[in-house]
Amino acid sequence: MPKKKNKKKDRAAGKDERTKKPGCEGCPSLCCYDMVIPIDRPRTRADEEELTWQVQYDTIRVFIVNKRWHMIVAGKCQYLDKNGWCTRYETRPERCRKHNPPGCERYGSFYDVMLETPEELGAYLDKERKRRAKRRRKNATRRAAQAAGKG
Ligand code: SF4
Ligand code: SF4
Repeated sequence: MPKKKNKKKDRAAGKDERTKKPGCEGCPSLCCYDMVIPIDRPRTRADEEELTWQVQYDTIRVFIVNKRWHMIVAGKCQYLDKNGWCTRYETRPERCRKHNPPGCERYGSFYDVMLETPEELGAYLDKERKRRAKRRRKNATRRAAQAAGKG
């Protein structure tokens, strides 16, 4: 039996009324705040120190999605008006056009790891270092076993 339409409920849940998929309806234009910049994964101690220094500012956060690192710089797009509408919607940049639900801020699904403070970043980097060291030890043990088997 088809479900009874509840437009009000769909709007509140942010669903597109026609497709029933997650939509922009009712969203306070979250993606027009806080600029996202792709960054390189920190590979050296100097990289880590630089990123740690940047993250100490409360306007800067870092997130990782699909192993790719990004920086978030808090702020608001100057083309967003005070009512939450884009004032250049027809000519908005490609990046804005490609940014759609459900892979967006509103649905919380745009990151795997969010690092907001130097402490969180430090803990994550420590964990990664330990994980890589463990993997190296495991590989070395396997190679040694293979070499012993051949010999
Ligand atoms: S793309 Fe996502 S964050 Fe941006 S307006 Fe639509 S629902 Fe809101
Ligand atoms: S150009 Fe428009 S859609 Fe893009 S971030 Fe600015 S206000 Fe939002």
